[in-house]
Amino acid sequence: MSKRIVILGAGESGTGAAILARKMGFDVFVSDNASIQPRYKEMLVSYNIPFEEGKHTERLILNADEVIKSPGISEKAPIIVKLRNKGIRIISEIEFAARFTAAKKICITGSNGKTTTTTLIHHMLRKAGLNAGLAGNVGKSFALQVATENYDYYVIELSSFQLDGMYDFKADIAILLNITADHLDRYDYSLEKYAESKFRITQNLEEDNFFIFCRDDEITIRHLEKIVMKARQLGFTRKNEPADGAWVDENDTMRIRFDDVDFSMSLAELALKGKHNTYNSMAAGITGNVLKIKKEIIRESLMDFRGVEHRLEPVMKVHGIQFINDSKATNVNSAWYALESMHTPVIWIAGGIDKGNDYSELLDLVKEKVRAIVCLGVDNKKLHEAFEGVVETMVDCSSMKDAVHSAYYLAKDGDTVLLSPACASFDLFKNYEDRGRQFKECVREL
Ligand code: ADP
Repeated sequence: MSKRIVILGAGESGTGAAILARKMGFDVFVSDNASIQPRYKEMLVSYNIPFEEGKHTERLILNADEVIKSPGISEKAPIIVKLRNKGIRIISEIEFAARFTAAKKICITGSNGKTTTTTLIHHMLRKAGLNAGLAGNVGKSFALQVATENYDYYVIELSSFQLDGMYDFKADIAILLNITADHLDRYDYSLEKYAESKFRITQNLEEDNFFIFCRDDEITIRHLEKIVMKARQLGFTRKNEPADGAWVDENDTMRIRFDDVDFSMSLAELALKGKHNTYNSMAAGITGNVLKIKKEIIRESLMDFRGVEHRLEPVMKVHGIQFINDSKATNVNSAWYALESMHTPVIWIAGGIDKGNDYSELLDLVKEKVRAIVCLGVDNKKLHEAFEGVVETMVDCSSMKDAVHSAYYLAKDGDTVLLSPACASFDLFKNYEDRGRQFKECVREL
């Protein structure tokens, strides 16, 4: 009898995993306790995969040999507790799919910058002519690509939720961008546990693999000192010159040096602006050099990368006022980097659902750069408490249209209107994409 694989959650990753499992000849069953989107249902039907929605039928689930769980399902969900009690192995779609591909895997995790860096590295590999897929939280699931494509490389974005379901998975190049407080609710409010989860990206690394990390990130460094790692470690820093890895020298030039590699490029040439993006470019630059991609190609890719929608995305100028969409900034840290990279006075649109934000980290930047704050959330109390008296003007809005109009009215020629909410979007919007799109539409209609 073939092994029974049960897949919980029929979103992008679950549907991909089901198709791959079917192709590999397993006995497959998909269960989602909400309704399944029509396009995923069609895919399941076309591959003849049995599924249920709106419920979890225990009889059909607790007989699994192995379960693939969508990263969105909580450990505390009753069905997960029952599976754990029965000792049934629960893995992530990434863990499962990796068993069926011999491609080299470049994996990126961190609290912020994952999508940007993943997309940038993928852009570089494609420019170098490598047959590379882009997977993880971006685009098509890894499993679906393993089932239907034939890539030699995968650039994979990994969230800590995915990493939690990974055991034997081995990256070839593992990149940890940073660790800052976010999603702590999923880790019993323990930064230590969250860091451990991020460090799972390094598990099973061997001597010939690489670990690329940020030397300026205290939590990363503290954790790194406590563990033993076989992989070659290459760090990046904006500070002093390290023995190897990447750094920024006194001429604002990004330098990369290890083994026989000696690469340099002026920060002014980088397509992605801001300190946070210097880190992302350094991580990508090291990766390109590890893969022995030609220097000219690495340089070109870092110069002509167009960025990712909703991440410090310039929208347009209206009467000398620049509008920037950074809707993906759903925590304080990413809003900090956004404000930090501004070179003009800012009208800052912020707010939404706050995940326990501490705004005090932003005080200095707000004092220095922000002319007015447009609060865009159902409950703006914490923003007012933090910034009342710090900026001249604070207004409350409960629709994007109002927010954009207010910001436009408050801005002067030469200012920037920055949407970088530091909060999740679910109070007023479907998700951060919806928030970003509405922002752009309202700006275009001004
Ligand atoms: P993720 O996929 O980890 O959520 P994104 O690339 O989507 O990261 O970027 C999310 C937000 O974080 C954006 O507002 C972006 O400008 C900001 N950001 C990007 N890179 C970094 C970084 N290295 N450190 C801090 N913030 C970053």
